[in-house]
Amino acid sequence: MRLGRIASPAGVAFVSVEGDGDDTVMKEIAEHPFGTPTFTGRSWKSADVRILAPILASKVICIGKNYAAHAAEMGGEAPADPVIFLKPNTSIIGPELPIVRPPSSERVDYEGELAIVIGRACKDVKAAQAKDVILGYTVANDVTARDHQQADGQWTRGKGYDTFCPLGPWIDTAFDPSDVELVTELDGEVKQRTRTSLMLHDVGEIVEWISRVMTLLPGDVILTGTPEGVGPMVAGQRVSVTVEGIGTLSNPVVDK
Ligand code: MG
Repeated sequence: MRLGRIASPAGVAFVSVEGDGDDTVMKEIAEHPFGTPTFTGRSWKSADVRILAPILASKVICIGKNYAAHAAEMGGEAPADPVIFLKPNTSIIGPELPIVRPPSSERVDYEGELAIVIGRACKDVKAAQAKDVILGYTVANDVTARDHQQADGQWTRGKGYDTFCPLGPWIDTAFDPSDVELVTELDGEVKQRTRTSLMLHDVGEIVEWISRVMTLLPGDVILTGTPEGVGPMVAGQRVSVTVEGIGTLSNPVVDK
């Protein structure tokens, strides 16, 4: 099942998404998408709604340097254990909303990533049981003010600006993350291309590592790291991240 969130003339709701293109139908979910959703009976065509970020997260946890070639381009080797950091939930935006470059940064980069969405409260999850706590997967862009990240010695400012976490377009609950293509395009030009099988720490290891530290709540999002090819975006450009089997997350870039 594909799960999303929309703004319709009737308000904001979670939906299940069926069909493709002009034939897409979005069936309204009565409350939340966790467990077995119940439906209101109302449905919408995609032309009549705005697609929002597919989930409301209490936190966004990110893995740094989870592809060896990206660690190398950042000037080092990947650490043996996963390095984690947080993005504030206020950085989340949906598809088609603009990524806003702050005037204080001279270099704002795209980082296309596969995202995990947690389905139930959990702690100390073993890798083999990670499937049981995952609602599904979506597409993310871990937008980064690279100059701030490097200047500060820690990453809260560089990773934390409003609009720096585009998510969507929807969550695929039946997705197999083990070996699919991930592509990032800037104005239609391919900048990043990898397969998720090249992750240094796979989804199970990531959930085990993070949940050893902190309780994960329904809707929490985990960004699994970006491959090589990161680079800057400027106002007027459009960045698109595609995960094979899920879809494309596309956002324009503007200056504040
Ligand atoms: Mg990243």
